[in-house]
Amino acid sequence: MKLTFLGTGAADWNGPDARGEYRRLTSTLLDGRLLIDATPTVLDMIPDPAAITDVFYTHSHGDHFSVDALKALAPCRVYAHGSWAGEIAGEGLTVIPLTVGQPVEAAGFTMIPMPSNHSTQRDYETTLHYLIEKDGKRLLYATDGAWLLNREHHIIGKKVLDAAVFDATIGDDCDGDWRIFEHNSIDMIRLMLKSMHRMGRLREDAPVFLTHMARTLHPDQAALEARTEKPFVVCRDGMEADV
Ligand SMILES: [Zn+2]
Ligand SMILES: [Zn+2]
Repeated sequence: MKLTFLGTGAADWNGPDARGEYRRLTSTLLDGRLLIDATPTVLDMIPDPAAITDVFYTHSHGDHFSVDALKALAPCRVYAHGSWAGEIAGEGLTVIPLTVGQPVEAAGFTMIPMPSNHSTQRDYETTLHYLIEKDGKRLLYATDGAWLLNREHHIIGKKVLDAAVFDATIGDDCDGDWRIFEHNSIDMIRLMLKSMHRMGRLREDAPVFLTHMARTLHPDQAALEARTEKPFVVCRDGMEADV
């Protein structure tokens, strides 16, 4: 599967920063056809909007969900957890509610919704990560959310992952930061990787993509790349990767 990281920033990006860097809001395209999170900043990054048939949402936060972006991509199928999918409507949008642990087939992918450790203003909303399978390859898509939930860990079960995309909102210096209860720091991801490698859940050479970086909590791209070791890949807008 081919991943295109259309946006790699957290909600605090609202244009180029003082360093001249810019991260759009986090959105990822799979094989040019399946979009995860149609955000307010995604449209100018999509190579061929007409090719997109399926849009999956992780959650309803304003940096991930945009009904205007969806309408620009219509006609398409839109998938969101059943707790809030009924609130999505628009001409040309076919909305499909998701249930945790129940796979759906879309654009050649098997998408397995998993609960994430995150929340929105909708107290009733279940926020999602995805286990994504195609042609014998498995990708964990884990943003937004801190850590992996026990239930999510059990849905992955004994499956071996070929790649992972993690919420890396917080940088190395997170002492006292309240966001650790809803987003990861890079050190938190390092801890998870150790366990996942030891348990054989993640291939030793599997790339681990970092995205959803906060503008105020990270250095620039070059400095961030210099301070992160393999298997981390620090994403930037427009970056492509094959899994
Ligand atoms: Zn977010
Ligand atoms: Zn969020």
